[in-house]
Amino acid sequence: MAFNFLRHFNHAPTSRYYNERMKSCPLCKSNTPLFFQSTGRVYYQCPACGLIFVAPSTHLSAEEEKSRYDYHQNSPAASGYVQFLRQLADPLLKHLHPGQHGLDFGCGPGPTLSLLLEEAGIHMKLYDPFYFPDETVLKQQYDFITCTEVVEHFHHPLQSWQQLTDLLQPGGWLGVMTSLFTPQINFSTWHYPKDETHVCFYTIETMHWLADRFGLTMPYHTKNAFLFRKE
Ligand SMILES: [Zn+2]
Repeated sequence: MAFNFLRHFNHAPTSRYYNERMKSCPLCKSNTPLFFQSTGRVYYQCPACGLIFVAPSTHLSAEEEKSRYDYHQNSPAASGYVQFLRQLADPLLKHLHPGQHGLDFGCGPGPTLSLLLEEAGIHMKLYDPFYFPDETVLKQQYDFITCTEVVEHFHHPLQSWQQLTDLLQPGGWLGVMTSLFTPQINFSTWHYPKDETHVCFYTIETMHWLADRFGLTMPYHTKNAFLFRKE
């Protein structure tokens, strides 16, 4: 009975987590209202930069995240995955030339995009906090960086985007893949938030905000592949 009584109040907890009505946006720090709730997860959408983010209290631990990644392994053997990555590799390669140096940031357990780029004569380094954690590769700048299906995992997106852009030389390219949230998508049935390791969902407004914040232009994008250039 006490539970039913509490449910009449908007501020009552509706899950094992206490859900605040407002949060600070992890990108632009604007006061952000609650956007959507599902079992065990609470989402907020920033009115200023458009980012949708999961309440930090519901983020998975590093161990939980890694066990999810171990389960979903992608590799060059999966031809569908190669086709998927070509959506970024093909437009990016138009701006690169043999001998350049790139970093695949968040490459996962089975690097695939880096192999596609190495076939074009490009030198690649790999970084992944779980599978290739050698941080010495983060102590130099690159002609370009690829970051595919990674930015939606950022627990601290402002710091992580800052790190990405710091790793780029002036004039360098940043190639990002993530599924954009658009007005045509029904968030409640969208597949992307169903993955519990996804905690940031970007809109086109967020991409423009990021470009402005970090001195980038965005000369090319589709609904899931983005090319930024550092000024
Ligand atoms: Zn924001």
